[in-house]
Amino acid sequence: MTTRVFRSPGAYVQGRNVLDDIGDHAKSLGDTALVLGDEVVLDIVGERIEASLEAAGFDVDRVLFDGECSEREIDRVVDRHTDHDADLIVGAGGGKAIDTARATRERTDGALVSLPTVASTDAPTSSVAVIYTEGGEFVEFHVYERHPDLVLIDTDVVTNAPTRLFRSGIGDALATWFEADAVFQSGATTLFEARSTRTARQIANLAYTTLREHGRSAVDAVERDAVTESVEAVVEANTLLSGLGFESGGLAAAHAIHNGLTQLEVTHDATHGEKVTIGTIAQLVLEGREDAFVEDVVEFAASVGLPTTLAEIGLEEPSHEDLAVVAEAACAEDETIHNEPFAVTPDDVRDALIGADAIGRRLDRR
Ligand SMILES: [Zn+2]
Repeated sequence: MTTRVFRSPGAYVQGRNVLDDIGDHAKSLGDTALVLGDEVVLDIVGERIEASLEAAGFDVDRVLFDGECSEREIDRVVDRHTDHDADLIVGAGGGKAIDTARATRERTDGALVSLPTVASTDAPTSSVAVIYTEGGEFVEFHVYERHPDLVLIDTDVVTNAPTRLFRSGIGDALATWFEADAVFQSGATTLFEARSTRTARQIANLAYTTLREHGRSAVDAVERDAVTESVEAVVEANTLLSGLGFESGGLAAAHAIHNGLTQLEVTHDATHGEKVTIGTIAQLVLEGREDAFVEDVVEFAASVGLPTTLAEIGLEEPSHEDLAVVAEAACAEDETIHNEPFAVTPDDVRDALIGADAIGRRLDRR
């Protein structure tokens, strides 16, 4: 296949206090807006979003998010959207509220503003939503036709959120270059079922170099609630660069291994980005990268406070059976691990996890 596809959100706005300018940036998207977020998020940012939208002439309604991106919740929000005759929905908060807004927009055909209040994953810029049952079990990974019309991220808000979420975003973004590069080399397809582009590959690479150049000082600053240029650089890497990079560049072993790890209940306290970090290190081992190269990535991950051993994501002394369960799931037929430029078996994955863990443990003892 030779068709190459690159897609992206309509606009991306990032900076300190940009929350207060949402009305100006969203002006062309309609005149009736529905704001969706949970109670905690709307307590922090709700009034500022609404004031800015109203100042720009929007008629604004708000709906409290119930915490799960489920079919029932999407139906409820769609009803509110229809009742209010909204032409714009603002999804504010973490991934689940934004995903619910994304699904609502798809069914109402209005505009979408994605407003992440944390920089914990690269999902906010994407066209992807993860749907769960009301009880929180995974149902499906859905790729929508359209992207957010606007992604708006206030670095002051992000910096005041828990530092662990910011570190997790670095973990998610750390995978992007290695996965996009594997996909580019193998000629596998991306999330858009097309070949990658040189553009997506370079964006993924820039995500990686930005993290390496600014990651440590950004985490130091976020721990003290300070917005520095390094924080701005890493928020952009975690959100925009990694978001464009994973969708248009494609996923490979790291996220497949993450998905495998979610099979084990004990890893559920670890965040997406924390488990992805283990997946990234295992991918490098799987690819047979040189010791010095893997150790350099492991040391960087540890330096920004990300896990580098299985114990750190809840897997103290995992049995061979546990790792086999992870490896089998990671190698499921439709998994992105098969985008690597070589064939991968469950045995390879299990042993790559053991090898990655051994490196993490050795460097930990040093
Ligand atoms: Zn991810």
